[in-house]
Formats: sequence, structure tokens, C-alpha cells
Amino acid sequence: MNYETVIGLEVHVELQTESKIFCGCKTTFGAPPNTNVCPICLGHPGTLPVLNKSAVELALKAALALNCEIGQDCKFDRKNYFYPDLPKGYQISQFDQPIGEHGYVEIEVEGEKRRIGIVRVHLEEDAGKLMHAPDGTHSLVDYNRTGVPLIEVVSEPDIRSPLEARLYLEAIKSIMQYCDISDCRMEEGSLRCDANISLRPVGQAAFGDKAEVKNMNSFRFVQKALEYEVERQTEVLESGQKVAQETRRFDEATQSTFSMRSKEEAHDYRYFPDPDLVRVKIDDAWFNRVRDSIPELPLAKRARYVAEFGLPAYDAGVLTADPAMARYFEAVVAMGPDPKTTSNWLMGDVSAYLNNAGLGISASPVGPDALAELIRIVASDKISLKQGRDVFKAMCETKKDAPTLIAELGMEQISDESALIGIIDQVIGGNEKSVQDYLGGKEKAIGALVGQVMKVTKGKANPGVVNKLLIEQLQKLK
Ligand SMILES: [Zn+2]
Repeated sequence: MNYETVIGLEVHVELQTESKIFCGCKTTFGAPPNTNVCPICLGHPGTLPVLNKSAVELALKAALALNCEIGQDCKFDRKNYFYPDLPKGYQISQFDQPIGEHGYVEIEVEGEKRRIGIVRVHLEEDAGKLMHAPDGTHSLVDYNRTGVPLIEVVSEPDIRSPLEARLYLEAIKSIMQYCDISDCRMEEGSLRCDANISLRPVGQAAFGDKAEVKNMNSFRFVQKALEYEVERQTEVLESGQKVAQETRRFDEATQSTFSMRSKEEAHDYRYFPDPDLVRVKIDDAWFNRVRDSIPELPLAKRARYVAEFGLPAYDAGVLTADPAMARYFEAVVAMGPDPKTTSNWLMGDVSAYLNNAGLGISASPVGPDALAELIRIVASDKISLKQGRDVFKAMCETKKDAPTLIAELGMEQISDESALIGIIDQVIGGNEKSVQDYLGGKEKAIGALVGQVMKVTKGKANPGVVNKLLIEQLQKLK
């Protein structure tokens, strides 16, 4: 039987506010345990929460960027449960009146546009973090994260493959970064994702029994975990069994998922409106100001790069995924270099260097103006592309500009025909075999001769000019 995959994702995104959602504690990541805490976020009796306006603003911006209908009159509810990372015994969240509902995200899957529905976007506080001693004797709790503002983005079960799930997550991350809502560092937990996945026979309307997968720490692992689940659930169904409704955990070491706990009993969180917080009213002026602050989003930018710069869709996709990369690209192109050549540099040598050094584009040792200058020099044939790549490496290491390094490295390219002709005649005279091969019809043999000229000129000869002169001189021998 053929099965269709049905996936829904719940994405938690930490909002990049200075302070927590209901108190003045800092939200900085990586502080010593339990230093960013106060009686409010520790849930001491008698304390009262005060809502952080910028958390509401960022959540509103996120909901708008995700095309949601906005709850301009919304409220906070208590979600009651006991766990040591939740000192109050309840989490302040939004239940029946979230800030955003009925939105969508557009993604492109293998050249085709797909729209993934968003059920809701709600604002809530994060819980603390538990650390378990390896010997199992005790656990430690760090409340620094308690009260950090989060949005939860719940998708419709519209995702049809593990690849689509990954593309959807990349789209969410990109939108959040464009709007300065979150740094979306998955490794620091500022973007987290849980997935619901089920299979159903193709053509069947009713959903199959689903499993929930947790603990996926990268987009690649999300895709891997879901691919594993598709295989596992297919086997379960084909053997005539039922897929258990359970929570499963992804294990990076084995690249598989394993059962954590059964989900047979639904939790009763006893939601009720938080009596300590007033309703949130977003007036039209605030709504309009936030709506107007949303920049051109990745998908629109991508379409513009194809139309305006004539870039292939692939290049446009890579360059626009990260807003900092898009800014860098536009800065270079604004200084004159050809867009496709600039794209090749950014996706090639620049990205290779940055990945290797573990840097983002904004921390690149070569700024847009320095790269633009190098691209212009290569385009003028003063140095070859190969030399240009060496100059780029040297620029990264020394932070000197291209003209200085070209002079220091003695790299000026020789394009002057009169300077090259003598060397070319000398090479033709000294490489009889290649010359005979070429004259006998093996056109590829010219490569060896070009190589010899480059060797004699220590790589400084302009390969295009050398090629042209060699053909001219060889024709004379025919
Ligand atoms: Zn606090």
C-alpha cells in the first residue's frame, strides 16, 4: 500500500528582548546558573508579573510576518502542571485568545510553491533548564531561562515530507531573523521544534495515529528523525499493527527515534485566565506601526533577485536565506560588480572561508567594499581568477586590501602580447610532442602548452591571451 506522510510542527522561538517577559531579569544566554533570577521569575508567593511591552511587540510582528489574523484583544492564561523547571507550578501562556491565528508560510519545494497553514501563534514564558548528573544520582535546575519570552508557532498538518518540514523550518527561521524577532540559534535553544507525524493510505481523508518526536537539535536532525519515522511507521502499518500514540525522542548517535512515554491519556492543564494580568489591547496605531516595520521578507526578496539581478533561483535562495548575507550581497552589487559574479564569490570562496572559520557573514574579515574592489580587479584582467582567489585568502588572513596584496605578492597579470610572444615561441620550440599532437588534431594538447607558459611566467600570464597567441603561432606551423 502507498502511504501519505502527514506532519505538523510546533516551533518555539525565543524573542530577543533585553529582559524577561514578566520581570526585569536579563535574558542573556550562557550566564552562570541562577544569576538572572528574581522573586518574580522564581515564583515566590506574593509577587506579581508585569508584562514586557517589547515581548508583545515582537510576538505581534511575528504573527503579522506569518500572515496571521491578529487578536488585538488577547489575554494570558495559566497552564497548570508540576515539573521542577517550573517554579510557579503553572506556565503563563495563551489559550483560547492567542495573539495570532489562521496564518501561513509559503515555501518552495523542488521548484513548486507550497503554502503551509499556521493554526496559531501564541506568547508565553519559557521554563527553566534541568541538568541531570551522569551517574543518575541527582538533577540540577537553572532558572535563568525561566520567564524568557517565547512564541509558539503551531502549523496545520499540511507538511507532506521530511524535506518539506526542513524547508518550512528554514522559512520560519529566515522570517524571524529578517524581522529581528529572534537570533534563532538552535544550538542555544532559541529555536526549538517538536514534530507530530502520522501516515495514512493515499486517498484517505482521516488522519492516522500520530507519534510526537522531540529533541531534534538541528534542521538536519529534524529531517533525519522524520525520515526514520516514515520508515518505522510504514513497517508497523504493513505488519498489520497500529502506530502507538506516544512521545519519541531522537537519538543523534543512532539517527533513530525511541519511545519516551505513552500519550494515551491527554493532559488536563486546567487552563484559566491569569488573574494577575490584565487583557492586552493592541490599538490600531500600534498595530499599524508594527505592520509597517516589517521589512521585505525572504520569499519576496528572492523573487526580486531573480527579476532585478537576473540570478538563478538557486543563487537567489541561498543569498536571501540569511538577511545579513542579503545585505552584504546588495552592498557589493551597489558598488558596481556584476551580480552573478558577486553571487559566485559569496557562495564559493567567501562561504567556504566563513564556514571553516565558524563565522557569520557579518563577522567576515573582508567587508563588502574590499570584496567589491577585488572583484573589479579580477574583472579588469589585471590578475586571473585563480590569483584573485589566492588574494582573497590573503585578505582574510592579513586584512590588507587587494591592491596592496597584489603588489606584495608580485601578482600583476601579464596580458601584454609583446611580453608573452617570446615565451610562447620558446615553449612551442621546447615541447615538440604536444605541438605534434595538437597539429595532428588533438586540440586538448594545447592545455599542456598553456600550462608550460604559466609555469615559466609563475602563473602571471593571462590564460586567455596565452591561449589566443598559442593558437595563432601553432597555425603558422601547419
Ligand atoms: Zn526575574
